[in-house]
Amino acid sequence: MKNPRWHLPVPLVLLLALGSVGCAAEGHHSAPPVTGAGPAASSTPPVPSSMPRPAADAPRPEVDCAKEKCIALTYDDGPSPLTPKLLKAFTDRKATATLFMLGNAAETYPQIVKQAQTQGFEIASHTYDHKAISDLPDAKVAWELSRTNAVLQKLTGSKPTLVRPPYAARTSRTDQIAGAHGLAVVVWNNSPEDWVAGHDTAAIITKLTLQRASRNSILLMHDIHPWTVDAAAPTIDALQKQGYTLVTVTQLLGATKAGTLYPAA
Ligand SMILES: [Zn+2]
Repeated sequence: MKNPRWHLPVPLVLLLALGSVGCAAEGHHSAPPVTGAGPAASSTPPVPSSMPRPAADAPRPEVDCAKEKCIALTYDDGPSPLTPKLLKAFTDRKATATLFMLGNAAETYPQIVKQAQTQGFEIASHTYDHKAISDLPDAKVAWELSRTNAVLQKLTGSKPTLVRPPYAARTSRTDQIAGAHGLAVVVWNNSPEDWVAGHDTAAIITKLTLQRASRNSILLMHDIHPWTVDAAAPTIDALQKQGYTLVTVTQLLGATKAGTLYPAA
């Protein structure tokens, strides 16, 4: 897929150049990187043939997504001061999600990471400081992944098993390095695109999420935007009314294989 990062409006390019982790920068995601043939199109998520790994050890009920109408909501770029409100919306409704956290944000808000882990959310890596790792040399990619693994392991007691490269900027080379760090690579099927101009009210995020939801899909959002966090409660209510069970990515995919890309392209 053509990387549209260079087509950002100038202020966003500037933000990126300044190394901002503000993920309005995720705005170049004009389309999901995986469509059609991913789990959204099939009732059977990909099951790796070797090296199965147990799910993280946070307390989560068993869910059989072959029988249940599962969906995985995922939140990137946190934790942030908004994250506790997001966690409450899920726990109040006995739902869960996956949080792809930045290592530096986890260091800034360690208690929120611990709270999320205790409450059964899946904690995953979004690299340390939100760089496009496909542009980095091997040693820097390894640093982004190992440092974030170490930060999250220190806070949660276990190493993450999933990484989502910022901007989905990945290659077979970065996937391989992720594999060497015990990480499967997870992108997404669809998104309400909560970084796009005009997608900045809870009502719009709720509406778009419901329109773009489908069985076994992985949806991308960001727990740094107040509209996204405010949309969580009504969105979860509506999805549950439609019969969805909200699960973590690992519950949806089953055991994942380090170095492999999910959903399958
Ligand atoms: Zn991001």
